[in-house]
Amino acid sequence: MVEAGTGIAGVKKALSGKTPEAIFLTHEHFDHTYHLNEYMTAFPTAKVYCHPATVTELETGDFNNAIAPFTGYPVAVPKSFKNIHAMTDGQILNIGPFEISAIFSPGHSHGCVVYLINNQLFTGDVLFRTSVGRQDLIPNGPALMQQTLRMLQKIKFETCYNGHSEQSTYAQQQKNIADHLE
Ligand SMILES: [Zn+2]
Repeated sequence: MVEAGTGIAGVKKALSGKTPEAIFLTHEHFDHTYHLNEYMTAFPTAKVYCHPATVTELETGDFNNAIAPFTGYPVAVPKSFKNIHAMTDGQILNIGPFEISAIFSPGHSHGCVVYLINNQLFTGDVLFRTSVGRQDLIPNGPALMQQTLRMLQKIKFETCYNGHSEQSTYAQQQKNIADHLE
């Protein structure tokens, strides 16, 4: 599974009795992690993977503490970190029929990871269908995003799935990235 921003009822329905072995977080923002505690309770054997900066953000709740009063969402600090694992840039995991590559992609947040899973790209808030993630949330965000876009431009994939808009093709993302490179 990728992301933890959807309520457990819908997730269980989609899984129809299957238990996920792993949950991959694209970054720490509340709308991508808010239901993590529910997932870890429902699937206690699932390992959670993310960027080390996301582990820190989840531990401190800093970012989400700052915005929680404005969103009405309480802070979603995990109850336990024993199943939460920090990945390294370029790390490859093989789980069942899936090969998962972690591609660190800072700019929208420090903890952004794009996952290449069997030729499908999961970009969280880094790439949308015709735009890229906001860059005003961390120091030096725009410069980091430019480096990230140059790096992602070289990654081959079939379909891009992102956190907030419709899926897109490789060709659409090549154009999207080019449109946002300076
Ligand atoms: Zn975000």
